[in-house]
Amino acid sequence: MPGLVVALVLFPCLSCDDGRKPPFNGYVTRSANFEYHNETPEALCPTLMPLLERHLASFESLTGLNLTPPSFRYYRFSNFPELGRFGCPSDCTRDDVVYAVARFDSHELFHVYAFRASGVTTSIGLLEEGLATAFACSPVRSNGDYHPGDWRNFVNVAEKLADLSDPDIADQYAAAGAFVAFLYYTFGWDKLALLYRSLRRGDDATALEGAVLSVYGADMDTLWQDSRTFPNKRICITDWTCWSSPVVLNEETRQECDGELHRSIELSEPSSVALFATHPVMLWQDCLAEPGPIFVLGQNSFPSVTWVSLAAGSFNLTRTSGSESINPRVYPASFSLELTSQIPGSFLASSCEAAQAIPLDPQVETRILFPSTASLSGWVRVDGPAAAVFSVVSDQLQTDIPNYPGGALHGDTSFCDSCSTDANCQAISSQVSLAFSGGGVLRLTNVYAVSFPEMGFPNAGFHISPM
Ligand SMILES: [Zn+2]
Repeated sequence: MPGLVVALVLFPCLSCDDGRKPPFNGYVTRSANFEYHNETPEALCPTLMPLLERHLASFESLTGLNLTPPSFRYYRFSNFPELGRFGCPSDCTRDDVVYAVARFDSHELFHVYAFRASGVTTSIGLLEEGLATAFACSPVRSNGDYHPGDWRNFVNVAEKLADLSDPDIADQYAAAGAFVAFLYYTFGWDKLALLYRSLRRGDDATALEGAVLSVYGADMDTLWQDSRTFPNKRICITDWTCWSSPVVLNEETRQECDGELHRSIELSEPSSVALFATHPVMLWQDCLAEPGPIFVLGQNSFPSVTWVSLAAGSFNLTRTSGSESINPRVYPASFSLELTSQIPGSFLASSCEAAQAIPLDPQVETRILFPSTASLSGWVRVDGPAAAVFSVVSDQLQTDIPNYPGGALHGDTSFCDSCSTDANCQAISSQVSLAFSGGGVLRLTNVYAVSFPEMGFPNAGFHISPM
């Protein structure tokens, strides 16, 4: 769906039955501030309890509050039918208790913290969902390009029991999250908490306008508009999502018990890196500071190795939902990621002779991606085992745009078997794959490589597969 990087299943936070009596007898694990009830036969994820404590601590440090005791309770159900029989169509909360199929539901956890922090059972839906979405950066990780329509139409978004595969509802969650992130970053937690507790689920737009005026001395329309133009359209409160440690060369990274990666690439100089991934991964600059990921690795093809050239800086890696599950927050156990190569500078050289070799993987597809740019030229050397045969296609690299503003654009993408003047060069396109053995050089001349990973469209580049 355009406009949203991640579109997940809905997580309405309506009342789940009574919620006071235990829904099942599972095995219980306790930590300082959590009581985790597990109905599944699965062994407890090794770092789950420390991760819950860290998650709570992140909220406490962002708000300056101390929320325990008593302990928060988390009931992990075996499956959705069981959860549904209990009264929740998907993961949900009741006061300070989480009921979930997900092993670790960051969004729902922030709902129970909000309950404890505010002292009220409900607030108006836009704030309830906005707060959990903002703190968790989930269930919708927006690029800021959402079009939710008039906020008056979804002041109680949570009550619609809607499906986030519905673009309208997903946009509303994203916008509500961005609005709360804006209020938090601009005016602080205390005022946000005051606003939160001055409203109840079911209150109308007029009540929200009145409360906003009373707390912030500004009108809702103005603040809403301001939230849409907040610097870089910062779309969530990133402390949890962006907490990370740098990946290390040749170290296999697995997802943490919350399903996130919590890993980053830290570069002290411009570099080119190769990442092997068994599922799609999003790469963000400076912790989601920009409206969307700058690269999506492994999109539509995994496992695969993806090469990208990056400036010096910090780049966060996060999961994408992909399509592996009805509920993407019940993550596959087998996900893994590995930084397999790192070389200084860009792999895109200004001359054939200067191009550094990118090693081709004889087992899985190698993807060579480029940032969005309207005129891309240069050389990329690829190097595979002599006996291996590969096929190469281009993706989103446009070489012929007759109606380009300011005059027709004509470019070229081709594969040459060497750098010599009598090299054999053949054109490559997205339609026709070219087979070659060993290695060679990819040549780009004035190519239009504009793509929109933040909108869910693939990055421009070459896909090279073993045959
Ligand atoms: Zn929610």
